[in-house]
Amino acid sequence: MVKVLVAAPIYEEALRRLRDAGFEVVYREYPSEDELIDLIRDADAVIVRSKPVVSRRVIEAAGKLKVIARAGVGLDNIDLEAARERGIEVYNAPSAPTESVAELAIGLMIDVLRKISFSDRLMRRGVWAKKKALGRELRGKILGIIGMGRIGQAVARIAHYGFGMRIIYYDVRRCPKDVEEELRAECVDLETLLKTADIVTLHVPLVPATKHMINEERLRLMKKTAILINTARGGVVDTEALVKALREGWIAGAGLDVYEEEPLPADHPLTKLDNVVLTPHIGANTVEAQMRAGLEVVEKIIGFFTGKR
Ligand code: NAD
Repeated sequence: MVKVLVAAPIYEEALRRLRDAGFEVVYREYPSEDELIDLIRDADAVIVRSKPVVSRRVIEAAGKLKVIARAGVGLDNIDLEAARERGIEVYNAPSAPTESVAELAIGLMIDVLRKISFSDRLMRRGVWAKKKALGRELRGKILGIIGMGRIGQAVARIAHYGFGMRIIYYDVRRCPKDVEEELRAECVDLETLLKTADIVTLHVPLVPATKHMINEERLRLMKKTAILINTARGGVVDTEALVKALREGWIAGAGLDVYEEEPLPADHPLTKLDNVVLTPHIGANTVEAQMRAGLEVVEKIIGFFTGKR
């Protein structure tokens, strides 16, 4: 019988599918490295989330292991090199959070433009700040998407069909023609995007080429009325330059879900600014995204052991 060690909480229905497919499921939430080494010795597959760490020591102890599955996206907690050396398959669920992150990006745009969190903060202090909360609409605005992959396209779809926004995008790879047509999206260079967009939203991975991609020089290219949304990775933006831009009014506001330092220190300069909305890296943090992540990796595991993969 194929034995699957589930080492992190995943969607109950996903566990049921494994059992229904005739797999033995052993569940232990977030074991320590030593516990994991004990548990993994006779397992054929292991499912983790961002924890526990599947180190080289763990992989070397796992004599039967054929699959490591991450119910989510990032693989930072898995020693990929050690897995490769042993011929172990590594699966993740890269499309599970797409809609959740896209909806958060749109939510941050509306929050910044309509000053929802700002008004809420003032109302709790007894201030009816109607005049200060004069907002702007999304409808008809130009949305500049940097990184037009899964999430970028999902944002474009909501923005185009829901708000009649005009989509321009910058990516190292141009989208297929049918996608551009469906989203009425125009591929432009980065400088044009920054100079033209009313809202700039980031959906690139953090790699050496995107580190501090949004720096002082590029923030200065943006319109004074424009806002920046970052639900990608904190390191894509030079935080110091962004704080300056927000303080000195080079741009009108920002909505951020990710930071160069996480958790963001409570006294960070960003927390002192009224024209910024902050969320604690909750892009993928929805019931639906977690359900999809669990189901996606379980289907991959079942496919692997039943020869369908
Ligand atoms: P994806 O791979 O589908 O899309 C990324 C796009 O960026 C691709 O089209 C790629 O060509 C483009 N790109 C890569 N390097 C580039 C560069 N140097 N310049 C311009 N474009 C470049 O990924 P995705 O699923 O859309 O996710 C995007 C990012 O969102 C992830 O890498 C991750 O960092 C972030 N994310 C955040 C959360 C969250 O909780 N806030 C959750 C999931 C993903």
